[in-house]
Amino acid sequence: MPAKIIDGKKVAEKFLKDINKNIKQSKEKPGLAIVLVGKNPASEIYVNFKEKKAREVGLYFKRFNLDKNVSQDGLLRIIDDINQNRKIHGVIVQLPLPDQIDETLVVDSILPHKDADGFTPVNLGSLVNDDNRLVPATARACLELIKSTGQKIAGKNAVVVGRSTIVGKPTALLLLQENATVTVCHSKTKNLKEHTKNADILVVACGKAKLIKKDMVKPGAIVIDVGINRTPNGLVGDVDFDGVKEVAGYITPVPGGVGPMTIAMLLDNTLNAMEIGKGVRF
Ligand code: NDP
Repeated sequence: MPAKIIDGKKVAEKFLKDINKNIKQSKEKPGLAIVLVGKNPASEIYVNFKEKKAREVGLYFKRFNLDKNVSQDGLLRIIDDINQNRKIHGVIVQLPLPDQIDETLVVDSILPHKDADGFTPVNLGSLVNDDNRLVPATARACLELIKSTGQKIAGKNAVVVGRSTIVGKPTALLLLQENATVTVCHSKTKNLKEHTKNADILVVACGKAKLIKKDMVKPGAIVIDVGINRTPNGLVGDVDFDGVKEVAGYITPVPGGVGPMTIAMLLDNTLNAMEIGKGVRF
């Protein structure tokens, strides 16, 4: 039987409705700022989409378009202004940044309680400590999509392909918090198939078009495809969707899977950031 398709847009819509409701009920309007440096076409598409959704749910939104040659000090000054701006509760610096900028330094300059992406050491550290504050949005998106299947996570074998700080590692940590038995694979993993074939839950975030084939997936598995790869035939994920959907139990499409959910989680993080900033929650 072919896999059930996990409709990321539909799951995201439910979250967006709740976010909109919470904003309407809130005395203060939550504010999100996005800083975009240069004119990377993919980054522009992502930022446009985030802006559209932020405005739709009713957030106060401010966009900073900076020249690609902006100096590191110039960018740090803008982040400092945003840190002080009381109308802005969450900030995203769209990555990647140009070569003259030290990405780590920039991310670390964001106040942890305004870190809508959840990439600062304080937020990542709290995730490691099982004391979640602002959790990276794509990792949250993966977990929510897995939960949307209604299947149990505790005790299942979960395999995450990719160990980036922004996707693979935080996703693995969230699955560990849900009591899955987690394996993390990466480019030096020997015999990837041996691992993926054992996964009840398989999350793939490696940026390699259609790397995961049908014969690498356990029948009935939940497969979450994070990858976004631009090919001559359009956008494809890291999973060979047409083949894998014949064996998996559940699968996310690309586009229309993790992408829309990531944006919903970013906006939700902005609401959480406002509460954390006000000391309503930690
Ligand atoms: P990175 O390039 O930072 O990390 C890729 C990871 O995949 C690395 O850990 C790397 O291993 C591993 N890897 C690479 N090749 C292989 C391989 N052949 N076998 C096993 N592991 C491999 O990417 P990101 O984590 O930032 O993003 C991953 C993908 O997800 C990209 O396509 C990106 O565009 C997409 N993405 C999608 C989002 C969404 O909202 N849908 C959000 C963020 C990212 P090693 O560490 O050894 O180098």
